[in-house]
Amino acid sequence: MFQKILIANRGEIALRVLRACKELGIQTVVVHSTADADAMHVRLADESVCIGPPPSRDSYLNIHQIVAACEITGADAVHPGYGFLSENAKFADILAAHNITFIGPSGDHIRIMGDKIEAKRTAKRLGIPVVPGSDGAVTDEKEARRIAAEIGYPVIIKASAGGGGRGMKVAHTEDDLEVALQTARSEAGAAFGDDAVYIEKYLEKPRHIEVQVFGDGFGRGVHFGERDCSLQRRHQKVWEEAPSPALNAEERARIGGVCAKAIADLGYSGAGTIEFLYENGEFYFIEMNTRLQVEHPVTEAITGIDLVHEQIRVASGGGLSVRQEDIKFNGHAIECRINAEDPRTFTPSPGTITHFHTPGGLGIRVDSGVYSGYKIPPYYDSLIGKLIVHGRNRVECMMRLRRALDEFVVDGIKTTLPLFRDLVGNADIANGDYDIHWLEKYLAKEE
Ligand code: ADP
Repeated sequence: MFQKILIANRGEIALRVLRACKELGIQTVVVHSTADADAMHVRLADESVCIGPPPSRDSYLNIHQIVAACEITGADAVHPGYGFLSENAKFADILAAHNITFIGPSGDHIRIMGDKIEAKRTAKRLGIPVVPGSDGAVTDEKEARRIAAEIGYPVIIKASAGGGGRGMKVAHTEDDLEVALQTARSEAGAAFGDDAVYIEKYLEKPRHIEVQVFGDGFGRGVHFGERDCSLQRRHQKVWEEAPSPALNAEERARIGGVCAKAIADLGYSGAGTIEFLYENGEFYFIEMNTRLQVEHPVTEAITGIDLVHEQIRVASGGGLSVRQEDIKFNGHAIECRINAEDPRTFTPSPGTITHFHTPGGLGIRVDSGVYSGYKIPPYYDSLIGKLIVHGRNRVECMMRLRRALDEFVVDGIKTTLPLFRDLVGNADIANGDYDIHWLEKYLAKEE
């Protein structure tokens, strides 16, 4: 087991990983920018190292500073959290070259899945169903027209290097195709330094369903069931739940089995998420994330298994603590991502939190790095906390969620809490009857 883990992240996820390390009796080092000197993860860690000024590229993305911090403190492993360097293959390789364990998959696996064209090809080869579309990158318009005609409109043009919902353009008819192709390419080039794009069928009413998988480091793969993350705004998840209200046990076992086998065949090690669009009873692979997800707590709630513990065990060579048959699903969980944003316009609302009171009671978990008097710096994403609620079934979970949202107090800044208070009372949400466009349509109506 590791002696000392360096956590290369900030906010709620830094604290989340820190908690797992403490439980396992592992010493912790956190790194932070000058803007985060007062952050909770810095206060609670055994050691902290300031690695640079506020902009992420100079601090949380600064590989040299982070490696130096490992060497100064003698950390033998790094947990990257999500975002920042968590899917940076070069970072994983550099750590390996310094004999520091990256708590995540190999650089090669990150590389394959980070390139969406390559990822889709790999998924197909492993027997995972994919969205119909081009076989690889599409460069000229004639080819694009041919493929689009073959799969049928509407189609979506996506950046191979894309992420965070950026670099995607929909063409509803052939007339839209040329502009969609050009804008997607130039946006991808500007945002990711790689203008390769591909085409796939645009699914009109899918749900976003993702499967939590793990490779144990010894060639075995398991799945921890699915999460439904269909409630999205601008392709960003807002509300996540497990299990999906749309799947039955048979469908869950089928897709879970396909994913677990793929992970084993790939020789993958550590946590991963295989994301699908789900429409008319069919799954279509869209991408794989090679890291811990923001929404992992809903899976923890229904399985009772600490996924960060498992990540640390696997990275240290100790394998998983569970086999597939030990993973049982119990009840229902929902996570709300609470952002420091105006609940109507979604413009960021940094500033000082004058009062912070979190709900409690049976089935309630709040993962947050903020506190009363905390000043939210304007440099990073606006997530200030996650409310995760568990109940014996979806109805109980929703009842508990409603009262937990009523108890939650965040004063001094605007947050998205009012949006969740509206959603929890909505009939479609109560029925689990929504797809990936539901939230945007709902928000447009509310305006
Ligand atoms: P990113 O890495 O940027 O998050 P994804 O490929 O995971 O990109 O897609 C993000 C979201 O975009 C999906 O959850 C879905 O809402 C939408 N999307 C992606 N591909 C399609 C598609 N073929 N049809 C319809 N919507 C899609």
